[in-house]
Amino acid sequence: MSELARQDPEIAACVEREAARQEHGLELIASENFVSRAVMEAAGSLLTNKYAEGLPGKRYYGGCVHVDSAEELARTRAKALFDCAWVNVQPHSGASANMAVYLAYLQPGDTLLGLDLAHGGHLTHGSPVNFSGILYKAQFYGVEKDGPLEGRIDMDKVRSKALAVRPKLISIGASAYSRDFDYAAFRSIADEVGAFLWMDMAHTAGLIASKLLRDPLPHCHVVTTTTHKTLRGTRGGMVLLKQDYENPFGKRAPKSGRLKMISELLDSAVFPGVQGGPLMHIIAAKAVAFGEALQPAFRDYCARVIANAAAMAEEFSSLGYRIVSGGTDNHLMLIDLASRGVTGKAAEEALSRAEITVNKNMVPFDPNPALVTGGIRVGSPAMTTRGLGTGEFRRIARLMDRVLLKPACADTSASVRSEVAEICRAFPLYAR
Ligand SMILES: *Cc1c(COP(=O)(O)O)cnc(C)c1O
Repeated sequence: MSELARQDPEIAACVEREAARQEHGLELIASENFVSRAVMEAAGSLLTNKYAEGLPGKRYYGGCVHVDSAEELARTRAKALFDCAWVNVQPHSGASANMAVYLAYLQPGDTLLGLDLAHGGHLTHGSPVNFSGILYKAQFYGVEKDGPLEGRIDMDKVRSKALAVRPKLISIGASAYSRDFDYAAFRSIADEVGAFLWMDMAHTAGLIASKLLRDPLPHCHVVTTTTHKTLRGTRGGMVLLKQDYENPFGKRAPKSGRLKMISELLDSAVFPGVQGGPLMHIIAAKAVAFGEALQPAFRDYCARVIANAAAMAEEFSSLGYRIVSGGTDNHLMLIDLASRGVTGKAAEEALSRAEITVNKNMVPFDPNPALVTGGIRVGSPAMTTRGLGTGEFRRIARLMDRVLLKPACADTSASVRSEVAEICRAFPLYAR
């Protein structure tokens, strides 16, 4: 980035220092990943110059022929990846994809039922500080405190809650839930109460595309995702439908009568409903990432993501930590730090001094305040991209344990940091 360094050395320095941080630390934040150089090149390309409101072939601007091709490739590849009939690849983020779903399926004041944020849900599923909780009546289901379903969703309780609150929309999907979902059971509850069913697979999209987790698309009226978590693309979102179907809202659609199909309603919810011009450089980068995810190597990667998370969870358990729900089916785990007498906040800070990046996270039924928390969330996608295997992930669990046993000890921190540096040297990021 020689031009950036010449023209704006302050910003160039931020990028350089962030590159060093990514290179020299263990990235265990479950929602993060490392994109390929090809994805970065597309994201950093001159496609950023182009305005292209509308859809391929139906733009409000001229000169869109080449960005049309890029968006068509993104759509075709996304549909192949998720074996589905329709997709909109324009949402700038997971949150804007979700906004489009609310706009299409609900009226302000309608009731939605989603997973409690404190039990692993996401802000956009009805949190009172988010538009979803401000504009809609949010109700929640949670996970079990103890018993055979500890840390898991009890579908009988979801059903009772749905019967009690009669939601118009039921959401599935989470940011900190380590188990797979029973989509068929959710769908039968949705049908029983007359609700639409929406899966937000932001975290697990890559694992779902690789068929290593259950496929929500056949069961859900609509599915959203981010493109940058396990899917390993540039930051962004999308909306998907297994099959298109007739717009069930008829007259209340913004352009009544003209939006015959739900796909048209969702397209118009993304633009002009939620967004203005799509980010064509990001859409091109999404296409590149989807192309990568269609390669057989991506399925191998996802299988290693799951194997690495499982090995790490097992190692933490054998070290005496409680893993919420006892383990993981996917790429992440929630670790309860109560057995070490450390808060999530103290753990995040102590681990960061040893160049290990995690995020503090509430565990279900956490007695600590949200900015303190009693747990951490740990994920395998990013370090699996760097090539680490189960042996390294077990070793990292032991390194983390050393820090968590003596969070204030400078010697421990220094000795763990040097082992982290050794691992990072062995698995270079963006090797030149
Ligand atoms: C990450 C996430 C999102 C939001 O994605 P952004 O791109 O940060 O807006 C939405 N839903 C779930 C479940 C997530 O985990």
